[in-house]
Amino acid sequence: MNEFDFIDRLRQQANSRKHSTRILTGIGDDGAVISESGTRDLIVTTDLLIEGVDFHINAAPARLTGHKALAVSLSDVAAMGARPSWSFLSFAMPRERWDSNFKDEFIAGYLALADQFGVTLSGGDVSESTTGVVIDSIVLGEVESGAAVKRSGARAGDQIYVTGNLGGAAAGLKLIELGARVDERSGIRGQESADDQRGSSPTVREGSESEPPAVAGGPEPVPGAVAIGSSDRSDDDAIQSLLFRQLRPNPRVGWGIVLGEQHLATSMIDISDGLSSDLHHLCRESHVGAIIDAAAIPLDIDVKRLCGRRALDPLALALHGGEDFELLFTVAQEDISRLPKKVDGVQISRVGEITERAESIQVRERDRVWDLQPQGFSHFES
Ligand code: ADP
Ligand code: MG
Repeated sequence: MNEFDFIDRLRQQANSRKHSTRILTGIGDDGAVISESGTRDLIVTTDLLIEGVDFHINAAPARLTGHKALAVSLSDVAAMGARPSWSFLSFAMPRERWDSNFKDEFIAGYLALADQFGVTLSGGDVSESTTGVVIDSIVLGEVESGAAVKRSGARAGDQIYVTGNLGGAAAGLKLIELGARVDERSGIRGQESADDQRGSSPTVREGSESEPPAVAGGPEPVPGAVAIGSSDRSDDDAIQSLLFRQLRPNPRVGWGIVLGEQHLATSMIDISDGLSSDLHHLCRESHVGAIIDAAAIPLDIDVKRLCGRRALDPLALALHGGEDFELLFTVAQEDISRLPKKVDGVQISRVGEITERAESIQVRERDRVWDLQPQGFSHFES
């Protein structure tokens, strides 16, 4: 039994024990939706990060691990179309780790990201571990009542979009496995992928400059990162950028809020396991199928550059590599004209269309059409 089979069973067990009518969505989405008042719904999401499984302590400075612990949960709140406001953080670590500067650096990275999005650390727990570091991250957010964007709302004919670009985080993981490490002299603050930053203004939606920024803060600008042409970037720059895609994900909080508040998305999920797996999750919940256009998938520019020379397939990394923490969402035809071009400097790409054929997910690549199997990450896979 793998992770998802177990969760399915748990979901049935929980659903047969309804103790509260205020739980609107329980197990099975990126976050739970709980009715808070007549006008607001609360979103709650939780993520567990285990040393040696979800992160490797010697692969990254502790600040980045603190950033990522919060980022993964902010991404789930964004995937519900909600605005994050409060967080809870529990962790356990062995005594030797406790006596090092790990915890202070970890908290510094965590709080820097919390400040960027106006999230208040509101509680947690601390314990001693006999093995490695264990981190439990919880984030709460809010949406207008009924506005949460679920995985289950996609309908045939809806267009499929992703934010940003894909494959970078998986390529970064491969580089870490090959021994590459972030160069701290390059500064660990504000490392946004070069693609995202190129020619973008940091917080204001393009074409609607009179509107307020979607979120407090938004991505930090990278000094000197504007208008870097790919030809000016060395391989070292590309490697560093990919390492940061893996180690310092930028949750698409602004896009989540815009898509939720403006009722633009019919369904949404964040890409944590990989596009192929997460699109399957979304289609399964919505009882629909999908056809993806391979040429439309936005590939990370550094992945294209480095993979091409190393016989790795950028498309495979984009389809099956996880942890990009981009948003995958669907939009009804009549709402497409209302979509902003960019939010917080991040653009979107239309990658395909929802079909009626339940759970049939296909890729159109030149003159071929093939079935896309879910090959993303799953714990306890046999
Ligand atoms: P995500 O990748 O978005 O964090 P997961 O795949 O971890 O989502 O979880 C899918 C769903 O299963 C979520 O609704 C989550 O809350 C639920 N879930 C996962 N593990 C458990 C558990 N141990 N107990 C109850 N619900 C769980
Ligand atoms: Mg998720």
